Amino acid sequence: MRAQCQCGQLAAQLPGPTFAVVACHCLACQRRSGSPFAVLAYYPVDQVEIVGEARRFTRPTDEGNRFETFFCGDCGSTVYAKAGKHPSMIGIPVGAIANPSLQPPVRSVWEQKQTSLGYAARSRAALRAGSRLALRATAARPPHP
Ligand SMILES: [Zn+2]
Ligand SMILES: [Zn+2]
Repeated sequence: MRAQCQCGQLAAQLPGPTFAVVACHCLACQRRSGSPFAVLAYYPVDQVEIVGEARRFTRPTDEGNRFETFFCGDCGSTVYAKAGKHPSMIGIPVGAIANPSLQPPVRSVWEQKQTSLGYAARSRAALRAGSRLALRATAARPPHP
């Protein structure tokens, strides 16, 4: 499985689907992604191979850590991210994977900041996934800054 930017210059080779898919509604993630909420699929950093040249942007988190996003300098798409709190993990924006068969998030955070658009999308996703999503949400706590 492969994630890549719009132009294809920057890519991440992934081992396959991951269970650790997290939606975040915080304002920084909204601005980073340009979407009402952002969804990252997390992998152990040693299982992901980066191909191409990345530029980096670092921002502080509310908890005093840092969050780094790595993006293509040509087209601007974010292809991976690292949370200082979880240095062994790497987050891949699900939109960069562009695979419609990816599973829905098992965790949704910063919902107090969610927009009406984000709420509508999340509610529909929850309806589609039904009890499977609720079951998974209680079964695991994937990382997030
Ligand atoms: Zn690009
Ligand atoms: Zn966020």
